[in-house]
Amino acid sequence: MRKEFLPPLAPCLGDEEYNEVLDTLKSGWITMGPKTRRFEELFAEYVRSSHAIAVSSCTAGLHLALVAGKIGPGDEVVTTPLTFCSTANVVVHQGATPILADVRPDTFNIDPDEIRKKITPRTKAIIPVHLGGQPCEMDEIRAIAEEHGLLVIEDAAHATGAEYKDRIVGTISDVTVFSFYATKNLTTGEGGMITTEDAELAEKMRILRLHGISSDAWKRYSDRGSWYYEVLFPGYKYNMTDIQASLGIHQLAKQEKFLEVRQRYAEMYTDAFRDLPEIATPAVKNHVRHAWHLYIICLDSEHLTIDRGQFVEALRKKNIGTSVHFIPLHLHPYYKERFGFSKGDFPVAETIYDRIVSLPLYPRMSERDVEDVIRAVRKVVADSRR
Ligand SMILES: *Cc1c(COP(=O)(O)O)cnc(C)c1O
Repeated sequence: MRKEFLPPLAPCLGDEEYNEVLDTLKSGWITMGPKTRRFEELFAEYVRSSHAIAVSSCTAGLHLALVAGKIGPGDEVVTTPLTFCSTANVVVHQGATPILADVRPDTFNIDPDEIRKKITPRTKAIIPVHLGGQPCEMDEIRAIAEEHGLLVIEDAAHATGAEYKDRIVGTISDVTVFSFYATKNLTTGEGGMITTEDAELAEKMRILRLHGISSDAWKRYSDRGSWYYEVLFPGYKYNMTDIQASLGIHQLAKQEKFLEVRQRYAEMYTDAFRDLPEIATPAVKNHVRHAWHLYIICLDSEHLTIDRGQFVEALRKKNIGTSVHFIPLHLHPYYKERFGFSKGDFPVAETIYDRIVSLPLYPRMSERDVEDVIRAVRKVVADSRR
């Protein structure tokens, strides 16, 4: 058995990141400035988008997209129950109503047929979430959006580098928002990026990101700036800092290499569990490139004497950390009480939730770590076969 605990998620930083942060600290310019701008340019180049706006988090980016898209009280926004709470919290911040559409049983991503059933005259936007790094069925979602004149905001928190039909995620919808949280597949500690092809939305979000003052206001402290500025909207304090961007610039340079390692480890898992009827491995569509932020297995309770909770505990005892992505939104107390959701409302998401486990998967792991996880999972399954 492993001597050391293997965490379910961990960042992968190196000397390039450490040195860049130090350089930033020594430069005297530590908040948003030239390095944030550079990171935006590099990111836009990577996803081939016309505009990239660095923000303090994916949550902040999703919020700005809703504000710029004029989503407000009385409006409805359709999203998935199988996501992190912030996808829907930002809808609530705007006084709008989150409407949930159940997921597909194979990919765990939002089901376009379920979205259709939830469209009303009040629907204004759809927020698809690329769970674990596998893109949603974007052609179908875009078709629904076009038919009903809806804004599509992709929650690409897990999907930096993912592709859908040979197109990298970032320009498929009106707005795409990425997360660079500590454990995401590209990290700046905390941070996010908004990409869009819409110049007007981009300009609006750029202004809203920094108090609503005229764009590039940060320059007013540099040799190019002046003391004068104008407040155009009551904006937010959602900017990235150059300390964060220092990490992002080098993480981005390593992203393709990271994605290859993730892909290789995911294949090791899938090969190793193929003969186990007790475990379903991720279903990957052949028209996507999975970013493998998460490797989610689904337990077949009919074949096991233990439930998901006991499975997680048994792995923990073997020093393997795991996690669950996600507790469905409609089962959280606030969403239950405020929007009248209850157990049974989204049966596919609930069935999945009871059975899923996210195994450790990140480039900082060694192949031996992956083998340790495989051995531990196979042992737990062997010990609890029905
Ligand atoms: C992590 C996450 C977010 C929020 O990202 P932050 O950068 O921490 O705000 C949003 N959506 C999903 C699906 C996430 O996993």
